[in-house]
Amino acid sequence: MKRVPLAILLVVATIAAWYFTRGPKQPETGTRVPFEVISADLAGQFSGEKAYSQVKALVEIGPRPPESDGYEEALVLLEKEFASQGWETQRQTFTKADTVVGAKSFTNLLARHSAGERDWNRSTPVVIGGHLDSKLIDSFKFVGANDGGSSTGVILELARVMATRPADAAKVEFVLFDGEEAFLPDITPADGLYGSKYYAYAISNRATWPSLGIVIDLVGDSRHGFYYNPEAPPSFATTVEKVAAETGLQLKRPPGPIIDDHVPLQNTGLPCLHLIGDFMNMPYWHQPGDTMEVIDAKALEQAGRATLKFLAEVKP
Ligand SMILES: [Zn+2]
Repeated sequence: MKRVPLAILLVVATIAAWYFTRGPKQPETGTRVPFEVISADLAGQFSGEKAYSQVKALVEIGPRPPESDGYEEALVLLEKEFASQGWETQRQTFTKADTVVGAKSFTNLLARHSAGERDWNRSTPVVIGGHLDSKLIDSFKFVGANDGGSSTGVILELARVMATRPADAAKVEFVLFDGEEAFLPDITPADGLYGSKYYAYAISNRATWPSLGIVIDLVGDSRHGFYYNPEAPPSFATTVEKVAAETGLQLKRPPGPIIDDHVPLQNTGLPCLHLIGDFMNMPYWHQPGDTMEVIDAKALEQAGRATLKFLAEVKP
């Protein structure tokens, strides 16, 4: 057997270490698509009742963990809903060989309005995301009405409202992430956020990059208040606090950073707003009680209107 010189071994080890620890690459100057605010009157058109119907239709499918029949059914439902409002969709499917439970296949769903950028290798100014999967729990039937369902319903209603103004709809790409939930009990660096991590790498390989990201999660219950990310840029914090007060959304500061689908996006340098219900005080979080019983149309409406007002006022 030939001996490999130590110097070569060290170079290989260094490259391997770099490969496994690097984050997504950062954009070059001038490659971000500039953001201009959307029309201020769109917020008033967002209907909590319509968003509620969307959440209900999704929850009626049942559990929607990665690779499940329910997840596939949810994809088909969303493709139909987006298409009926003039949005084109793209499935972003990938397999991760080394999840904590072995190889798993995931599918993010991306949507763009037909009036906007048609080349998927180029970005829109804004990305709005939420997760479509529900947590895989073997011991009971978990349908994730608030955890997964609520943000998806709000996104579908945002798509309906924005489509009434194609010039504004053209500024946005929606993305429904798969695999937000961990297979093991908690999200860790090795488990969970599978779809958003993949999406972050995918946008970092495009010819142009977005300028602003919004991620929403658990936005269907107004009884517990909402957090936004403490790491958001100061202009985002000022704007979200203003629009929350105007829409009745009860905002509070989280006890610390919350790990969710916005984190991989932020790691690409994308300024993000993350809006999430206070799951730590929801007794039904990851429990059988996360059903339509806990969803109120008012919360969905507040979250949807706050998102639209934010996009009408923020200066990134
Ligand atoms: Zn969850």
